[in-house]
Amino acid sequence: MTTPLLGKSFIGYSRSSGIEPCGNGVQPGTGTQLEPAYCSATPEEVGHAMALAAAAFPVYSSLSGKTRAGFLRAIATEIEGVVEDIVERGQLESALPEARLRGETGRTTGQLRMFASQIEEGSWVDARIERADPDRKPIPKVDLRSMLRPLGPVAVFCASNFPLAFSVAGGDSASALAAGCPVVVIAHASHPGCAEIVANAVIRAARATGMPEGVFSVLYGGGRKVGQAVVKHPVTQAVGFTGSRSGGTALMATANSRSQPIPVYAEMSSVNPVVILPGALARGEEALAEAFFGSLTLGVGQFCTNPGLVFLPGDQGDAFLAKLKSLVEAGTPGMMLNASICKSYADSTAAFAATDGVTTLARSANEAGPGQGAPAVFVVSIGDFLKHESLQGEMFGPATLIVRGSVSEIEAAIPKLEGQLTASIFASPEELAAQPSLVQALQQRAGRLICNGFPTGVEVCNSMVHGGPFPATSDGRSTSVGTMAIFRFCRPVAWQSFPDAALPAELQEANPLGIKRME
Ligand code: NAP
Repeated sequence: MTTPLLGKSFIGYSRSSGIEPCGNGVQPGTGTQLEPAYCSATPEEVGHAMALAAAAFPVYSSLSGKTRAGFLRAIATEIEGVVEDIVERGQLESALPEARLRGETGRTTGQLRMFASQIEEGSWVDARIERADPDRKPIPKVDLRSMLRPLGPVAVFCASNFPLAFSVAGGDSASALAAGCPVVVIAHASHPGCAEIVANAVIRAARATGMPEGVFSVLYGGGRKVGQAVVKHPVTQAVGFTGSRSGGTALMATANSRSQPIPVYAEMSSVNPVVILPGALARGEEALAEAFFGSLTLGVGQFCTNPGLVFLPGDQGDAFLAKLKSLVEAGTPGMMLNASICKSYADSTAAFAATDGVTTLARSANEAGPGQGAPAVFVVSIGDFLKHESLQGEMFGPATLIVRGSVSEIEAAIPKLEGQLTASIFASPEELAAQPSLVQALQQRAGRLICNGFPTGVEVCNSMVHGGPFPATSDGRSTSVGTMAIFRFCRPVAWQSFPDAALPAELQEANPLGIKRME
């Protein structure tokens, strides 16, 4: 390990002195406790981290985009310097394979550099300029200029299923820092060591690039205790979260009950419906089943974009189901991220199997060992699906529910679905042209529509939308992946009749930053 793990929170540039234990990292499957023991941040330390964030905000938010970009790029470089530590500790804590951890580290540093490029270029602030017209009749027009400004300190909750890309220096932190917001991270109990390695890298980058103390803190002690305290704290101005529906809605309730309610951007629960039309089956049912099985079992199904619900024409697709059955039966169980996710997978699949009208098409014939989850496929008629609201719930793991009905019944069922991150449609071009209302219905329910492809694999880019109506997210107007994620942590501000020199550079008459503006 390049830097020894201490098991203490990061309160700005110092380390916590907290002594109340909040648990060790635990190796999935064996239950072995990993050193060191972690300590919860005390209420005083939470208060200190928030005070430092409040003090850092006016300084950090006033830095130029180029200077903040230098900080983000330095974080990426520091993380690359500890990739071997991340891979070693990450495999122990999360059971994720080496290739996944290396890939996720690359995604994390790539995201940081993507946001760095966005703020270096600068046009993202959406500068709008309306010049004064003193001669306008019947009343003169005032000079009015607007742009986006950062909200203030942001609380970021690490996700269990992405120890890097949605954790300490993941997309929520990167986009908030890019916007000009200090960040206070709540580490996830599933991977405290990875969190500490990455936090050390961020703090080294902050010091090296001269960032104000308090621009970044990482707190141990869990979401229910420490996280709730951070969300309630008056300094906090927004929340980023990826996890369960119960956790996300609890944070929404806390944020709404503050004397100043604040926005919560929670990415929670999605089963990512896949609609298969006859034209797609005609292209080859077995190949489709193989591709579907690959998406279903990727990462032991522990992705928010896992395809957990499939609509299949009731009188077709038998070869698709037969192939899927054989793949699932031969499928190997995989180690899940932690014991609680493994238990919740076992409970949810048992509940689906026991619901009236649901039959188990296939389960893996290979017995799951401790901590493992095995693939499973259930089938239900569209009538029974609509009778049981619980069948819309998430089985977080490699399980899916196949719903069979006519194409018109499928179309009528789509508006009854909860909000989703994605919706996929497999169809021929002629079917797509003939089914505009089906595509329109899917668009109403999801943040990303996919044609003839599966939802796993989320490109990080300018046009990605990783969001969707509740309960996919708490705010369907937002995305947590891609450059649009920065807009979650900003608000528009207008300057009326200000002298040029007193305006932000982005709004000055000479456009010294050379950004694109609406004028
Ligand atoms: P989680 O239970 O929601 O925990 C995520 C974070 O939220 C943890 O830091 C947790 O802190 C905190 N939290 C939970 N309940 C809270 C509350 N009432 N108030 C404040 N903070 C709270 O999610 P998880 O541990 O990652 O996984 C549990 C289940 O969530 C999975 O089985 C799966 O169903 C779902 N999940 C979904 C996605 C997705 O992308 N859709 C991703 C991950 C997980 P504590 O440690 O104190 O509980």
